[in-house]
Amino acid sequence: MTQLHRRRLLGGLAPIAATLALPVWATPRPAFAQAAAGAPPSGPHRQAPMPYAFDKNEAAIDARTMELHYRFHHGSQVNGLNTALRDHGALAQLPLDQLLMKLAEVPDSVRTAVRNNGGGHANHTMFWEIMGGSGGTPDGELAEAIRRDFTDLDTLRSRFNAAANGVFGSGWAFVTVNREGRLALVTKPGQDTPLMDGQRVLLGNDVWEHAYYLRYQNRRAEYTGNWWNVVDWQKVAARYAAAKAGTLTV
Ligand code: MN
Repeated sequence: MTQLHRRRLLGGLAPIAATLALPVWATPRPAFAQAAAGAPPSGPHRQAPMPYAFDKNEAAIDARTMELHYRFHHGSQVNGLNTALRDHGALAQLPLDQLLMKLAEVPDSVRTAVRNNGGGHANHTMFWEIMGGSGGTPDGELAEAIRRDFTDLDTLRSRFNAAANGVFGSGWAFVTVNREGRLALVTKPGQDTPLMDGQRVLLGNDVWEHAYYLRYQNRRAEYTGNWWNVVDWQKVAARYAAAKAGTLTV
């Protein structure tokens, strides 16, 4: 039976069911209720596999937190984004970074859902990518850029951590990078991202409580301090090069 026929049939039966006072279990459910109860669409956006084991970031983040964070927090945002785009074919065609740069063009009815879930999808995709490392220091062009724009890595870390620790409630701290390789510090509330301002993200840290509460409880500053021990500077350097080449997306 095609969806169209099913809708017609259900639409035709509903008044009859009401008239005959059928028991609840026998009452045909309207098509929209069936859709709402069904699984979220499996695309167009997808969650990339975690690029390393959940215990790879133990120096800063416990495996249980990583797993819950990836599977349920990030996972539900991907589902929420796909659900929001279900009836918006043209928007669903856009790559995620382009979608987030055009939030003003997203219809009112789904703009908040796209902002929160799309922003969250972009933020977490970046977040997993730049961790899994063992901290240390960057080298090459990226190290030069940090010296130029932040004096040195210690200054970048302390300014970044102060900003991250100062985010009221839930949000993120980011270092943005432009086409010339210039770096800047930005914080955002909720799941907002600098992509929404047309900027590109070099790296970022999630300071929602779900990112650290199991191990650190209220001690956010301890988490943000340790977080640098799992940053993979080679991945960050690859993002830096991509930003300058104009190929960095989320
Ligand atoms: Mn998160």
